[in-house]
Amino acid sequence: MLLIRTLTTACAILVHSVFVLAGSRAWETQLTHRLAAARHVFSVDTAGHAVADATAEAHLTSRYLTIVPQSGVSREKVWPDSTISFCFDTQPSRDKLLPRLKEAMELWRSNGDGLPRETYKMVEVFPPGASDCFNNPQRDKVLVISYNTNGRLSTTVGLPSLDGTDTSYKGPTMTLSDKPGVGLLDIVANYAHEIGHSWGLYHEHQNPHFWEENYNRNFPGFVFGAQFNCRALADYDRVMNWVRTNKPELVNDICTLRGAASSVNFSAAEWLPITTATRSHATRLGQGTYADVDWDSIMLYPSGAGGSGTASGPDTPGGLVRDNRANVLLRNDGIKLKINLVPSPLDIQGIRMLYETGLDGTVFPGMPVLPNAPQSQFYARFREITRRSCPGLGEPF
Ligand SMILES: [Zn+2]
Repeated sequence: MLLIRTLTTACAILVHSVFVLAGSRAWETQLTHRLAAARHVFSVDTAGHAVADATAEAHLTSRYLTIVPQSGVSREKVWPDSTISFCFDTQPSRDKLLPRLKEAMELWRSNGDGLPRETYKMVEVFPPGASDCFNNPQRDKVLVISYNTNGRLSTTVGLPSLDGTDTSYKGPTMTLSDKPGVGLLDIVANYAHEIGHSWGLYHEHQNPHFWEENYNRNFPGFVFGAQFNCRALADYDRVMNWVRTNKPELVNDICTLRGAASSVNFSAAEWLPITTATRSHATRLGQGTYADVDWDSIMLYPSGAGGSGTASGPDTPGGLVRDNRANVLLRNDGIKLKINLVPSPLDIQGIRMLYETGLDGTVFPGMPVLPNAPQSQFYARFREITRRSCPGLGEPF
């Protein structure tokens, strides 16, 4: 089937002047944790579809953390038409990633109770390769997905728009790896987590209202902070040594301030609270309690994420599920954060809130002409490539 559709551009924001990659840089490679051998079946409650009143909204929205979708020139944008348009950087990336990427998106469907198939889609809109995909003139409107074998997993949050102050940013990216024993110790679950970022979700544990005053002076919470063991991070020694020599003024900050950690590419940036604009209505003092955290979120890291040590999961050939990793974060009461292999009902609600409410109705600018549209100059080539090596190109899933 050749789809003829158009896209608008929307974008999500990130935190600093530089667009933000959520997810690990090099360190989700070393996640450790025990997990169930099979993915859980999950269900969505009725709250997954609508929020009945303001009280419910204030309560529920405190339990996921998203960008704040806006129109106009803001960088906080969501995918237009609730469709993630993507392409692969190379044909081998496509061959390696596409089947599990589809499986991961299915985890968000939850057998009809998750993200509605007719509304929330991923569509491969360009063939793989430099000229077709990542050097495409419409690069800023398309998620470029690449593959690596070293366990690197990271994704831009939402669809950040171009920013004149950050010329290195060309468009949204997703970096995926099928290295076993990393992240959530389940390859498809890892991909589903990254898809969550692309829809616009931040890490659940980075909600500032859950963190103690040391980490968040405004509206501190009572869930995290007392048992954040920055030194347990696998890259702590390397980064701290570098900082002592090159940025001594940051020595006391990189374990408490996300911006400082991020500025030196320290993995603590994936744990520490995000104190810039996010959509979280947990702004009442005392709201950041254990009951406010979505402990089932696929966007919540397990305690050993990024910690020193090794782990193996069901995807590890011949490997037993084991966890020899140091705990980076425990709840203040000492309880470990578990691994979640499927999106939670609130993860799904968070995305639906992002796309189905809160926008001001303004049409997003920038409608690309996709190669699967007959008026595109790439149309003939698109058809040829589709026949040759990209079956399924242009078909949403
Ligand atoms: Zn992540």
